[in-house]
Amino acid sequence: VESPYGGSPEDSGTRPEKIAKSDCDDNIGYFIKKKLRVWCWLPSGLWELGMIQSTSGDAALVSLSSGNVIKVHRVDLLPANPDVLEGVDDLIQLSYLNEPAVLYNLQCRYSQDMIYSKAGPVLIAINPFKDVQIYGKDSIRAYRQKLTDKPHVYAVADAAYDEMMTDDVNQSIIISGESGAGKTETAKVAMQYLAAIGSGSCGTEHANAILQTNCILEAFGNAKTSRNHNASRFSRVAQLENGERSYHVFYQLCAGAPSTLKERLNLKRASEYKYLNQSDCLEIDGVDDVRKFHTLVKALDVVQVCKEDQEHMFSLLAAVLWLGNISFQAIDNEKHVEVLADEAVTIASMLMGCSSQELILSLSTPEIRGAKDSIDTRLTLRQAIDARDALAKFIYVSLFDWLVEQINKSLAVLIYTSLLVMFAIRFVYLVMILRAIFQKNSFEQMCINYANERLQQHFNRHLFKLEQEECELDGVDWTKVDFQDNQECLNLFEKKPFGLLSVLDEESNFPKANDLTLANKFKQHLNANSCFKAEKGSTFSIRHHAGEVLYDTSGFLKKNRDKLPAVFVQLLSSCRCRLLQLFTSKELKQFQKPENDLYQIDALDPSKSGAGIDFKGQLFKLLHQLESSTPHFISCIKPNSKQLPGMYEVNLVLQQLKCCGVLEVVRISRSGYPTRMAHQEFAGRYGFLLLEDDLPRDPLSLSIAVLKRFSVLPEMYQIGYTKVFLRTGQIASLEDKRKKV
Ligand code: ATP
Ligand code: MG
Repeated sequence: VESPYGGSPEDSGTRPEKIAKSDCDDNIGYFIKKKLRVWCWLPSGLWELGMIQSTSGDAALVSLSSGNVIKVHRVDLLPANPDVLEGVDDLIQLSYLNEPAVLYNLQCRYSQDMIYSKAGPVLIAINPFKDVQIYGKDSIRAYRQKLTDKPHVYAVADAAYDEMMTDDVNQSIIISGESGAGKTETAKVAMQYLAAIGSGSCGTEHANAILQTNCILEAFGNAKTSRNHNASRFSRVAQLENGERSYHVFYQLCAGAPSTLKERLNLKRASEYKYLNQSDCLEIDGVDDVRKFHTLVKALDVVQVCKEDQEHMFSLLAAVLWLGNISFQAIDNEKHVEVLADEAVTIASMLMGCSSQELILSLSTPEIRGAKDSIDTRLTLRQAIDARDALAKFIYVSLFDWLVEQINKSLAVLIYTSLLVMFAIRFVYLVMILRAIFQKNSFEQMCINYANERLQQHFNRHLFKLEQEECELDGVDWTKVDFQDNQECLNLFEKKPFGLLSVLDEESNFPKANDLTLANKFKQHLNANSCFKAEKGSTFSIRHHAGEVLYDTSGFLKKNRDKLPAVFVQLLSSCRCRLLQLFTSKELKQFQKPENDLYQIDALDPSKSGAGIDFKGQLFKLLHQLESSTPHFISCIKPNSKQLPGMYEVNLVLQQLKCCGVLEVVRISRSGYPTRMAHQEFAGRYGFLLLEDDLPRDPLSLSIAVLKRFSVLPEMYQIGYTKVFLRTGQIASLEDKRKKV
């Protein structure tokens, strides 16, 4: 899951209006009067902790921890938590859940290498960018035997495992965060735990197989980017930015394949391939591709991908690389091009199992869809390159999907307690589905943000249910808290016939449509939705749950129409390679029509949907699986953009907390009864403040006596069967009284 924000992370240094305001109104008067600790919003754009010294009108003199004394307007003050609450495990324990309080609490923990914290049911994981000594056998044992309740990925995995075993319900672990935040590493930590505790029932060898899948999935699914040298990516086959790499597996194959394999595949060095050499980056510091290749092959053996299939896989990888080297020469006054029949064509077709002529012919057929009017069969250079890259991409993507399927299948057979394994793999897959980061807010970014809206709704609903259950279980009145649903934004995308995806599909079927006509259609049909905002020219904005994002429709139509052209389906299905035939079997069914005229096959058939609707279909399938499982949430946070240890950039963290819904957890809890204390604990902590002689003995009555004695208003608390439920700020004033004794 990616962070849904479209803006740049650097521009977030603004004062958080909404939360600040409500806190001001509620409590700050009291804080000023009592001269307590406060957060001050400084002109530098940061919050700092201080102590109120004196007040005059709407301003207060505050002494900061640096020793400076400054004058601050009351709207720039927020209540700070009493120090007893410093660095608490769970943010929900804080009396004041304002942004500086949350940020400070996490920072305080992070500086002590406590990278895991909780926000109610959500685990927050802040990337340490260094090895922390919190993993391994001893730690696993401690969590398994429930000897510790410190927040940890192990605890999440343990809870999921226990629930799966006792309730026989599928479990999902949803890991979110932006690129480089630590999702993949977190998933590995969880799998390490599951493999360790599962090895008791399925044997260490099989548990090992689970872990081996990581290296396969990473080789095929990960690449080096500027944000993360091991980023989980997709469709990165044809184009690279400077300093980035394509999927690891290409470099591993070129570097590590034994000479006989290299010969069979006509394989050259990575630097010889255009798909790999365009970005001036062939190696990663400290990574040995040769060794990685050997590890990959071993892992493929372990998960029982047979040698023959391995050879097919490597052939197709080599074919992809050779396809990238296919070039074109200009014809009729440079306006059009034709395929250059050179070594690249010969080798690529040999590896795919077709003839050079067949490959050239299919590469020379113009994109069909939307081109019905122009019977021009000649290609422009752009069209030729796009077609070639689309073919390469399709082969790679299909190979990846097939591989995941193989791993799932063979592990299920391999391991007696397949339950555990399917769980582990499914959850890796989940992490992989919604990856990718896009600089420009284009079609892909929009799809990701749409998926995030759906996942956010899943998250909110679950959270809400938990809140409700806890209150009801303790016999506390469940008053409906103000809950901001994102249904309106989902309607914007999904409504029929005039939601964004439907309008996009309809427009995609008009050959003459362009970016501007599409933008105008959006403006015409979507304006009534409050999450939509018309902007200039081909742009528009969407109000997502995490903020407003500006999109540009350029490329939308092309990307939405992005189906594998029928010529390629025909070509691949007639190739001698078993895997290629397999990859196209699904597509082939779609294309089957009586006549054999290529131009008819993918013509304007309204039943054929575009990539946007397809994405929705996949998303719904995923959500369906999630709905029938018990979710566990982990939010990964990237503390700085330099990938360095010990560095905590407050605004960067704040922005991520907002995006991934952690502040929403906090907000939902704020509007109810955020502080919950067992009667025993409450009575123990505050009971001694009562000086009367004949105090009640039982914790419940003692708790009530405390609340009455200090005139806590009835609407500020509720007494449950086991806990006291308190509204925001109440515990702080009790703490205050406690301190004075
Ligand atoms: P992407 O979305 O780009 O795939 P990601 O969220 O999967 O990013 P990771 O690859 O998991 O990010 O993490 C990036 C890097 O951060 C890792 O290569 C590792 O160096 C470091 N890292 C993440 N989590 C941990 C951890 N728990 N302990 C130590 N280092 C970590
Ligand atoms: Mg990743």
